[in-house]
Amino acid sequence: MIQLVFATNNPNKLKEVQALLPSNIKLLSLSDINCHEDIPETQPTIEGNAIQKAEYLKQMYGYNCFADDTGLEVVALNGEPGVYSARYAGPQRNSDDNMDKLLSNLENRQNRKAQFKTVIALHLDGALHTFTGICKGNITLEKRGNKGFGYDPVFQPDNYDKTFAEMDLELKNTIGHRGKATKQLIDFLSNL
Ligand code: IMP
Repeated sequence: MIQLVFATNNPNKLKEVQALLPSNIKLLSLSDINCHEDIPETQPTIEGNAIQKAEYLKQMYGYNCFADDTGLEVVALNGEPGVYSARYAGPQRNSDDNMDKLLSNLENRQNRKAQFKTVIALHLDGALHTFTGICKGNITLEKRGNKGFGYDPVFQPDNYDKTFAEMDLELKNTIGHRGKATKQLIDFLSNL
């Protein structure tokens, strides 16, 4: 039996991933290990933040674990908001404010290409592994749809005419950044 901490406070995310894993892997949540603090994420890159969170958990709590970090990278803004995605418009971490700032920064810009990137860092028996999922697309001219969260209403993935916020979650998970990174993690753990 392998015990692995998933650095999330969202029980639904935990259940979803647990259901896709072989039965010899048991996922634990942060509250299962009595971790109720904010895990530091102070690195300048998405990958750096995922690794920092996994290393912190290993060091402070001693468990094998994995952590993820996600950001939206816009080509015409040199990769911004990137690691600042959650607090792009300020510490209030408000999605509508973040999208308004993004749309205003892209006003009159031809190049609206962007990608979502999720990195999962896995700390297992002293070794660190990373898994990266990317979803490429464009930033729309205005918000469309009310599903999902974060920047979903302004992100239209390549080859689709809907934004993430107009899509069913199942489709978003299949073509999306987080789903792709999670699938790589699951494939890796399933082949141990
Ligand atoms: P986190 O690393 O998963 O907390 O994501 C950081 C920020 O990126 C979030 O606060 C959201 O603003 C944004 N974000 C992450 N994943 C998504 C997504 O799937 N759709 C839209 N926005 C997202």
